[in-house]
Amino acid sequence: MDFNDSASEAAFRAEATAFLDEHAPEEFGSYTSGDDQELVFQQHKAWQKTLAAHGWGAITWPEVYGGSGKGPIEQIIWNGELNKRGVGHSMLAVGIGMVGPTLIAHGTPEQQERYLGPLLKADETWCQLFSEPGAGSDLAGLATKAVRDGDDWIVSGQKTWCSGAQHNHFGILIARTDPSVPKHKGITYFLLDMNSPGIEVRPLIEMTGDSHFNEVFLNEVRVPDRARLGPLNGGWGVTQTTLMNERMAMGGLSNLLRFDELLALVVRESDGKPGETMRAELAEVYSQLRCLELLNARVVSKLGRGVIPTAESSVMKLALARMMTQANALAMRALGPKALLRQGYWQNEYLFAPAFHIAGGTSEVQKNVCAERVLGLPREATGDRDTPFDQLARS
Ligand SMILES: Cc1cc2nc3c(=O)[nH]c(=O)nc-3n(C[C@H](O)[C@H](O)[C@H](O)COP(=O)(O)OP(=O)(O)OC[C@H]3O[C@@H](n4cnc5c(N)ncnc54)[C@H](O)[C@@H]3O)c2cc1C
Repeated sequence: MDFNDSASEAAFRAEATAFLDEHAPEEFGSYTSGDDQELVFQQHKAWQKTLAAHGWGAITWPEVYGGSGKGPIEQIIWNGELNKRGVGHSMLAVGIGMVGPTLIAHGTPEQQERYLGPLLKADETWCQLFSEPGAGSDLAGLATKAVRDGDDWIVSGQKTWCSGAQHNHFGILIARTDPSVPKHKGITYFLLDMNSPGIEVRPLIEMTGDSHFNEVFLNEVRVPDRARLGPLNGGWGVTQTTLMNERMAMGGLSNLLRFDELLALVVRESDGKPGETMRAELAEVYSQLRCLELLNARVVSKLGRGVIPTAESSVMKLALARMMTQANALAMRALGPKALLRQGYWQNEYLFAPAFHIAGGTSEVQKNVCAERVLGLPREATGDRDTPFDQLARS
């Protein structure tokens, strides 16, 4: 891979830079750093509206759907330029990065017409209702059920860890529509209006004190069949499109680490003379960050060729979680007792860091993937792939 811009990439970067220099907002809070979440959400919404109004709303969506029709390399360039200005990592990423591509791949023309425009312009925003108390790593074990009633489905169950569900208009939801077949085969994918009667959203308070995610209770919620995305009982395939795009989004998260600020903090707190251990640790974190950027480029370019980069994504996810933990612990050591005495950006980041070991697939599950795909070890024995869901032992 050549890391220098080609002529067309340089032209794209220049265009992006000119746009961002003129339009990037000065106020753009972060969803991990303890800022007021409702305010941050409104800032991110306003920014997406500006991007969409100027044709920068979705870099890789085809032009026919309002995107820029660009490839993964342009997406990397764009993300890099956004992050330089601190305006990347939007709370609307589920919609633009995951729901949009899934609708484009699996939606009917009517669904694409109905949902994509408002999504792109942030007139309607989206959350993800996949995980359940008993189904996270083993997502296909989900128990929320949808039962047909005329032209509608009646959905009942509980979802959890739903980021931003308290802010959003729609949710992508997977539910069991046939329990008599093996677990991967009886799932259907729906587009859920979050204002439907029977939905209760309860924010969960994290140890940071913020509420990023929520429990969502579904009590006989009526969903029209026209809001079913993809084939009946074929939801697992549709889900894979969403998860593939989630992996792509996770890769870019290494930019969440503000390395220059970490460096400045360590230098400041040690009166300009960081000790040997701190210097070595800083160098280690910096090396990890650079490796992650290169791995991310590899993952995105593979995805751009339509290849699912399972092993690379898992290595990247593991390395990202380790780097975030190490970097934020280093910040705490640099702050010393002050880390305990008051709230602040790094204190908050430190408390949020364990989430990187869980969100988007836990570190243990990523290690399993590496064991199978990189080391060639036998697949983990689960023994439940061919058993009808309603015959599985469940707690
Ligand atoms: C910040 C954050 C945001 C999130 N946002 C969303 C969202 O918007 N929508 C959504 O649907 N979900 C969301 N999630 C949920 C996330 O996808 C799940 O937490 C994740 O998939 C793990 O599932 P779980 O929490 O049920 O843990 P479990 O699957 O119950 O795992 C519990 C423990 O067992 C280990 N384990 C499980 N299976 C294995 C195995 N086969 N081998 C070895 N160890 C194993 C795990 O590593 C973990 O340590 C979010 C999570 C976080 C942290």
